Amino acid sequence: MVADYYDVLGVGRGAGQDEIKKAFRRLARDTHPDANPGDPTAEARFRDVARAYEVLSDPAKRAAYDRGGSFEAGDLFSSFAGIDDLLSRFFGGGFGYQFGGGGRTGPAQGSDIGTRVSVTLEEAAAGAARQVRFRAAIPCESCSGSGSTAGVDLATCDQCHGQGSVRVTRQTILGATMAITACDRCRGRGKVIVEPCEACLGRGSIDGERGVEVDIPPGIGDGARIRVPGKGAAGDAGGRPGDLYVEVGVAPDPRFERHGADLIHRVKVGLAEAALGATAMIPVVGEDDFELEIPAGTQPGSVFRLARMGMPRLQRRGRGDLLVEVMVEVPDRLTAEQEASLRAFAELTGEQPAPPAKRRHRS
Ligand SMILES: [Zn+2]
Ligand SMILES: [Zn+2]
Repeated sequence: MVADYYDVLGVGRGAGQDEIKKAFRRLARDTHPDANPGDPTAEARFRDVARAYEVLSDPAKRAAYDRGGSFEAGDLFSSFAGIDDLLSRFFGGGFGYQFGGGGRTGPAQGSDIGTRVSVTLEEAAAGAARQVRFRAAIPCESCSGSGSTAGVDLATCDQCHGQGSVRVTRQTILGATMAITACDRCRGRGKVIVEPCEACLGRGSIDGERGVEVDIPPGIGDGARIRVPGKGAAGDAGGRPGDLYVEVGVAPDPRFERHGADLIHRVKVGLAEAALGATAMIPVVGEDDFELEIPAGTQPGSVFRLARMGMPRLQRRGRGDLLVEVMVEVPDRLTAEQEASLRAFAELTGEQPAPPAKRRHRS
């Protein structure tokens, strides 16, 4: 599930921008991977905090989110790569923190891209493959992403002497830190382009459309995010590509109510069927209907548990259960004949129904 952004920042829905900024600043400091060495969950928490802040700090995005989060993937994630910008604002210019490694010592990494796909409950149960298409920076074909005209060698950078990095001391809210930062002349490559590729002007990437095949695992939940490493936007020449994040929407299925791996199905039976017993056909996701014996004397609201007929458990063995809740239908219109037999029945049980004049017959 996608966490509620207000919960992530620990602020109320009416929180003002100052309060949101303050909460972000505190959480960014607490969850920043540099402040949590050896804690692999810190980076994920930090990203969640940054993402929540990205949306709630922007009035337009926040309004869209408040309306029910039905905003375009582009709106949701367009500034996903802006985490670096965000950090610069709070942690001092050019902090250059990069996920998945120490300081920034290489060329700029490609930005992460977010997109959404929608699947049916059946597809969520069986697993599915989806082709997602989006516009993003893609590697330039002319130079294979190097940014340099084919056949012309790169020259060693004379500022860093080919090291790609320089040492700097920086004042951050975490204290003074010695950082190794990318050489700004060669952008960390250690080499400079002598003759830039004409197609991409030396960037190594061009704007284009990318198609990525995404595997949606069986048992996926509504709102789950799948990370496809390296399938985001291309980085600067020599830089790593960003990641692709695919948010999966599972369309509601009117036959079922889903609770994790368990499903609830409500089956309607008649008055006589509940009293005398009956057979009901119960839909099972991804399988043929199941013939359920409803025993005589079944009460309204009774629940039958069909073990392992629910959804597959995500990334685990087994399936959840299918819970069948029995709804006994009380007829609201009766023919004269039906009413007569029901009155005869009431006489035998000693029930005292309202007199006939108060009821209308079905024509
Ligand atoms: Zn090129
Ligand atoms: Zn350099």
